[in-house]
Amino acid sequence: MKKVTNVAVIGGGASGLCAAVELVSNATDKNGIQVTVLEKMTRVGKKLLVTGNGRCNLTNMNAAVSGYRGDTEFAETALKRYTPEKNIEFFNSLGLYTRTEEDGRVYPLSNQASSVLDALRFECERLGVKLVCDYRAVHLKEVSTAFTRKIVVNNRDRFDYVIVAAGGKAAKIHGTDGDSYDLLKMLGHTVTSIAPALVSLNCENFTKSLKGIRSVCGVELVIDGKSEYKNSGEVQFTDYGLSGIPIMQLSRFVSMSPSNDIQIILDLTPDFSEEKLLSYLISRREKDTGLCENMLSGIINKQICITIMKECGIAVNGRVNGLSDEQIKSLCTILKRWKINVKNSRSFDFAQVTAGGLNCSEFNPETMESRLCSGVYCCGEALDVDGDCGGYNLQWAWSSGRTAGKSLAERINNAQNK
Ligand SMILES: Cc1cc2nc3c(=O)[nH]c(=O)nc-3n(C[C@H](O)[C@H](O)[C@H](O)COP(=O)(O)OP(=O)(O)OC[C@H]3O[C@@H](n4cnc5c(N)ncnc54)[C@H](O)[C@@H]3O)c2cc1C
Repeated sequence: MKKVTNVAVIGGGASGLCAAVELVSNATDKNGIQVTVLEKMTRVGKKLLVTGNGRCNLTNMNAAVSGYRGDTEFAETALKRYTPEKNIEFFNSLGLYTRTEEDGRVYPLSNQASSVLDALRFECERLGVKLVCDYRAVHLKEVSTAFTRKIVVNNRDRFDYVIVAAGGKAAKIHGTDGDSYDLLKMLGHTVTSIAPALVSLNCENFTKSLKGIRSVCGVELVIDGKSEYKNSGEVQFTDYGLSGIPIMQLSRFVSMSPSNDIQIILDLTPDFSEEKLLSYLISRREKDTGLCENMLSGIINKQICITIMKECGIAVNGRVNGLSDEQIKSLCTILKRWKINVKNSRSFDFAQVTAGGLNCSEFNPETMESRLCSGVYCCGEALDVDGDCGGYNLQWAWSSGRTAGKSLAERINNAQNK
């Protein structure tokens, strides 16, 4: 009887589905291989459906290795092999076309994340990949005899090879609770310190009155008095603190820091230099006989104006033309450098990504195979690689998943040709 090579992919998310497709597509004898995706949730790809606010920002044309953190040297091989262009070609070959938007962000033409998942699901179906849902892998071990060597999942299901693609610890609601780490620790792997990334921040004594307001700001992260990160973009004020893309981008540095002295400094008027702002404020004082609460409505949100007036000790029902030079100066300073004390980042449950993960030095970057247990591969967010907001994390999921799938296909092809 013909020998069939059995492969399990643990985790039917972005990298797992992609690895399964790449593996079977590159297998010379498609009848000589059976790939089974084992997925904990009731359906594969549940997280993919919520990515990019339901639109799936599937990659970024600017996704160079400089947009990643963790073991970037390890990540470089897969990222260079499967560039954003190559991953778009991959999806084109599945019938999915894309549009590139602001800052290089790439979305499906349909604007629906479900199209990305469907493209992968239908290709799995066409290639004969088995999708087994409601299957949580909790145990992984290697069993060898004189003649065979198997990787056994849950002490029951035996496979020739296993790809662990069970994600990180962020967004438990979508199936990821750190199982990748526990499974690979059973084979001797280690995990670097992990923390929530791409997540909002809890701030101290934060005024709830700003909840729901969005404002384009310059943003600086200061830890122990040292400037650690600067960017800009639309900041969202919430009832617990700050959110929005520029805040999420720097959140990994907050959650990774042991310090209690962390501040966000907002430039509420990034379009004005300090001199221009000062002369604007002075000209308002000259012309404006109205109430202070309306003084800045020409340049910032009124509720933010009221909040910072209070921080400067200015009575909002006072008159603009009654402001002293000192009050004008402190208003200018706070508009350009509003210091907000950060308590911490929100938890993994609210995070989009995990910073840290499985120690990449224990895997081969050319193949994604474990250096500790032959025949076991790992890809995606489970590894110690995290990217910027804007399609970088899915780009890593596709590139690492394809690397694992392709290299395992080549290995199986070589073994079958012997
Ligand atoms: C709300 C949200 C929005 C996001 N938006 C974007 C975006 O627009 N662009 C972008 O680039 N990134 C985005 N991300 C990040 C991106 O989704 C992830 O980095 C990416 O999905 C990781 O791929 P993965 O295959 O490693 O893991 P996942 O896609 O998380 O897949 C892991 C799979 O493994 C399954 N699993 C877990 N444990 C087990 C187990 N023990 N047994 C069996 N199965 C298991 C899970 O149920 C899951 O289906 C977003 C994340 C979130 C939470």
